[in-house]
Amino acid sequence: SGTLWVVATPIGNLDDLSARARAVLGSVAVIAAEDTRHTRHLLQHFGMATPLLALHEHNEAGMIEALLARLAGGEDLALVSDAGTPLISDPGFRLVRAARAAGLRVAPVPGPAALIAALCVAGLPSERFVFEGFLPAKAAARQQRLAELAGEARTLVFYEAPHRLEATLTDLAAAFGSDRQAALARELTKLHETVISATLGDLIARVAADADQRRGEIVLIVGGNDAQAAQALAEGRRLYALLRGELA
Ligand code: SAM
Repeated sequence: SGTLWVVATPIGNLDDLSARARAVLGSVAVIAAEDTRHTRHLLQHFGMATPLLALHEHNEAGMIEALLARLAGGEDLALVSDAGTPLISDPGFRLVRAARAAGLRVAPVPGPAALIAALCVAGLPSERFVFEGFLPAKAAARQQRLAELAGEARTLVFYEAPHRLEATLTDLAAAFGSDRQAALARELTKLHETVISATLGDLIARVAADADQRRGEIVLIVGGNDAQAAQALAEGRRLYALLRGELA
C-alpha cells in the first residue's frame, strides 16, 4: 500500500519549502489540499503540476474512505494545508487518524509552523510551552478560557485573527495582569515581519497607537504565570530586610 505524506509548506517565504517537500509533492499521485487554488500557485511556482483534490474542514469526513482506498491500492498521497504544517489549527487530523487505524503508513515531511517560528524569536522561556491555537471568538467563552489558563506556568502560544487582536489583548491583560511579559509576532518570514516583546499592557498601547500592528497574520506568545519565581523573590526580599534589621 502507499504512503500518506503529511507535508509542511511555507508560512510566507516560498523558499522555506524544503527540498524533500518538493520531491514528495512532485512525485505523489495526488495532493489533498485545504484550498486547491492556493496550493496550485505553490506548485506552479516550483514548476509542478501534480493533481490536486480539496480536503477541508467541511468535506474531510466524507473524503476519508476514497483516500484510504487509493492508499490501499498502492498510491502515495500528500496532505497539505494553505500554510505551515497540516493538522496544526488546520484540517487533516481525521484523515491521519483513519489512515493509522487502517494500518497504512503515514510519514511526515516537517517544515514551517507559525507557532514554532514565533516561539523561537519571542525571547520567552521555550523549554516548556502550551499551544492553545485560536481562542474562542465569542468574548464570554474567550474570557472563560483565559481564566482557566491564568495559573499556567508554561509559556502560552495563541493564534489570533487581526480583527480580534485588541479584544484578545485586553482580555489577556484582564486575566493574567498587564505586567505579564508577552510577544506579538506578525507576518513571520514575510516582507512586513515584526516581533514586539513587551508586557501585555505595553502591547495594548502599541497596538492602539499603530494600526499596522493589527494587520496580517499574528501569533501571540505570553509568558507563563511564574508564581514560584515571584514567591522566591518575595521570600528573598523578606530575608534581606530581616538581615538588614539584624545587622543594623
Ligand atoms: N498550519 C499553520 C501553521 O503550521 O502554523 C497554521 C494555520 S492557522 C489556520 C493560521 C494562523 O497561523 C494565522 O491566523 C496566524 O495566527 C498563524 N500564522 C500563519 N502564518 C503566519 C505568519 N507568517 N506569521 C504569523 N502568524 C502566522
